[in-house]
Amino acid sequence: MTIPASQLERVFAEVEAATQEMVDFTAEMIRIPTVNPPGDAYVECAQLIGERLEAFDFAVDYPVAEGRAEHTPTHPRMNVVGLRQGHSLRPLVHLNGHFDVVPAGAGWTVDPFGGLVRDGRIYGRGSSDMKAGITAAMYAAEAIRRAGISLHGSVEISGTVDEESGGFAGMAWLAEQGRVSASRTDAVIITEPTDTDRLYIGHRGVYWFEVTTRGRIAHGSMPFLGTNAIEHMGVILDDIRRRLMPALQARTTAVPVKPDGARHATLNINGIAGGQPVDGIQTPCVADICRAIFDRRFLAEEGFEATRAEIVELLERAARETPELVYELRDLMVVHPVRTPDGASVVASLERSVQQVLGRPVMLAASPGTYDHKHVDRIAGVPNCVAYGPGILDLAHQPDEYCTIDDLVQSTKVLAMSILELTHSL
Ligand SMILES: [Zn+2]
Repeated sequence: MTIPASQLERVFAEVEAATQEMVDFTAEMIRIPTVNPPGDAYVECAQLIGERLEAFDFAVDYPVAEGRAEHTPTHPRMNVVGLRQGHSLRPLVHLNGHFDVVPAGAGWTVDPFGGLVRDGRIYGRGSSDMKAGITAAMYAAEAIRRAGISLHGSVEISGTVDEESGGFAGMAWLAEQGRVSASRTDAVIITEPTDTDRLYIGHRGVYWFEVTTRGRIAHGSMPFLGTNAIEHMGVILDDIRRRLMPALQARTTAVPVKPDGARHATLNINGIAGGQPVDGIQTPCVADICRAIFDRRFLAEEGFEATRAEIVELLERAARETPELVYELRDLMVVHPVRTPDGASVVASLERSVQQVLGRPVMLAASPGTYDHKHVDRIAGVPNCVAYGPGILDLAHQPDEYCTIDDLVQSTKVLAMSILELTHSL
């Protein structure tokens, strides 16, 4: 639907007029060190967000992840959800941001929890990932209200915990409780940092596995009396390099993602260890064990079953063709791929909004890592979900993390326009 230009102008003017408030609020959140692990100061941050949402005319409550092991008296897992109902409950647009941050780490030249604002940047741990995103969601909704525009549908905004450790007491919890669910939620925008002109429409699947080869120890001067597990791992690695890697490179997802390399299936050898420790005291022995860890990123089109079967087949072939090759395969982690479906209204809307605000097309991208999208898709059953928000993804988890004020203002406008579209402003 088309939003009247006069409405958009009023809303954008309200966003600009609120710039200082937005900067101050982001800095205020940064000063609450919601470090995860262990999950510090969640209640304080949830309440800061909740009080501001109340001031913005939202009905607010604080869902606590009762019963989860990580919800403890010293580190309660408190989320915050605000609902501002329009003329009807639906369409309902839910904007989500996690307020936990990773530890500051070393190498900072500014106080990571000081909320310093300098040269058009807001500094601090969590500025980009993703307290600025929470501010953007809140002020996008508020700018619409300040512009005197009433919505047909509703806006819901949540601040959730624990995204950095899997999101089980956060977005997964809200989805399990039905707070975010297909029966009430029409679209979800996760305001993670996407560099203001990218739209994340999911991620590839992740399959981490460990392969162990076992040989037979013998004297190193008579290797023919033993079986070398490292040589056998070499057989497997050689097959991966000669056969599997080219096959993976030839597979391209239909998901229109950037960077181009992320359109292919990939495999990385994360680590390998075999035989005696190379830095220890040397003894002449045939290596009787070798272990390697692999990170396979698979495409939605491949699926997990076929991905794993291909690895098993490769290992079986090596065992068949190599006398005495014995292996074990152990699954370490599986994350299934998520992908926003073609034609999703939230994608089409954000494409229009980014074009309108930034004057250039949005780039559809797959996230390099996984994030709370998977819970929205798999538990809540809401495939109409994307990530879009202010901040620079490359700065996430780095020292001297910052978000530019310009990014914050621009993406707040983008979000406001999409809220208007998706809730059918009246
Ligand atoms: Zn994040």
